[in-house]
Amino acid sequence: MVVYNKSMIEFVKRHPLSAIFIIILIIIFAGVNQRIAQLEKRAQMEMENTRRQVELCKKNMTLKKYTEAISCYSDLVEKYENLEFRYGLGIAFIKKKRYGEALEEFKFIIAHKDEVEDEKLLEDSKKQIALIKKRLSLQKQAKKQDIGHYYSDTKDFAVWKTPKNIKVYINDSYGKAKLLKKAFDTWDKMLYGTLDFTYVDSSEDCDISATAIDIVDLLELAAQQNRSANSIGMTLTQTYYYSLNKDKVYMEKAEVMVSYNDKEDVERDDVEFLSIALHEVGHSIGILSHSKKYGDIMYPDETGDIHEYCTLSNRDINTAKKLYGNI
Ligand SMILES: [Zn+2]
Repeated sequence: MVVYNKSMIEFVKRHPLSAIFIIILIIIFAGVNQRIAQLEKRAQMEMENTRRQVELCKKNMTLKKYTEAISCYSDLVEKYENLEFRYGLGIAFIKKKRYGEALEEFKFIIAHKDEVEDEKLLEDSKKQIALIKKRLSLQKQAKKQDIGHYYSDTKDFAVWKTPKNIKVYINDSYGKAKLLKKAFDTWDKMLYGTLDFTYVDSSEDCDISATAIDIVDLLELAAQQNRSANSIGMTLTQTYYYSLNKDKVYMEKAEVMVSYNDKEDVERDDVEFLSIALHEVGHSIGILSHSKKYGDIMYPDETGDIHEYCTLSNRDINTAKKLYGNI
């Protein structure tokens, strides 16, 4: 080291200008190196942040927090031109039934197909576009055909003897009483003059009881009742008929059950829960079978897929009115 330092001093004495030049070079080099290290660190941190955000988006999707997932993926799409993030955003839009925006994302991916490294992403985007188009056309068709009723489609009906005073007891299990009540209120409002629900505090003297239930318990019950293994809600009914008038079946008791969670034990969002509840309340008022038309709340969800709508169709309302002889 000493020898080295000596020769360095010698060199500086002999070539002072070169020495200064070398020193400047060393300083610049050190500065550049430091800058590169800083940039590398920043890039690493950014990569880590992105990875965390992607995870957060995915977690939101699993937890059915779709609004959060949309804003999470939107941030990513804004920051990076990454087609996979756009795909994630498209799926989140679908979940919130924002089909127009979802279509734009998938179409963007197709338009940039030269940049797509993963062929599957392209294929999946095409599939999503086809699915959305099918759904939109079904929606349009359902809206157009939302007239008349489905009373004549099946004979599986029963009526409450005193429809203007149906006593409903709502169990507040899993904190879903408000939504269950909303389902009854919706039918009540739409069938004003035909049906009237009165809410009672005890299950003892009610006609209809309603409760949220764990999907595991619901499926166990469904199996006992020989019902679909895809059940998401269930209504048990007791009916009777007068010996003199065997055509008319009366409701004696109904028990509405709506699963608050799905098979992965993720809690359903309010829209999902309410649409199942509306369907089950429809059974409890005496529509014991199903509509054959997509768009009616009484259209069955045998796939375990959730209803598109969270409202009653005109056909649902007319069928119930017909059932109670009001049209
Ligand atoms: Zn049903």
